[in-house]
Amino acid sequence: MTVSEQRLQAAVERLKESGVRITPQRHAVLEFLLNSKIHPTADDIYRALEDKFPNMSVATVYNNLRVFRENGLVRELTYGDSSSRFDCDTDEHYHLICDSCGKIVDFHYPSLYEVEKLAAQVTNFDVTHHRLELYGTCPDCQQTTSINLSGTLL
Ligand SMILES: [Zn+2]
Ligand SMILES: [Zn+2]
Repeated sequence: MTVSEQRLQAAVERLKESGVRITPQRHAVLEFLLNSKIHPTADDIYRALEDKFPNMSVATVYNNLRVFRENGLVRELTYGDSSSRFDCDTDEHYHLICDSCGKIVDFHYPSLYEVEKLAAQVTNFDVTHHRLELYGTCPDCQQTTSINLSGTLL
């Protein structure tokens, strides 16, 4: 069994233990998420699966994502008014976001708990968590830009 198959099976077990019924659609959404490195939106998931499940709606996808979130299987990343992205890596990690294509890449770095502690001391907040996002241009987009630039030079 591959690592992703093991993760899928563990996730299915966790859902079953909390009494969640595993429908074929729910299984497919979960499988897609666990194999996805792009932090997809609900729309991305819907588009990837609509051929296989013509009766599935975006609302179904959202409903499944909510169930997964409530069971600690995904994290929802909200960005103002643009649609949420979903991350099935629930370990503490940070994100790099490409300004050109919106891609989100994981970046593992020791968690900055000292910052939380200091912020709590200074502000008297009960600090629960933090997010750190780094912005820039991904390698793919850097290449596209340089091709465009040489194009204009010619
Ligand atoms: Zn990019
Ligand atoms: Zn992530």
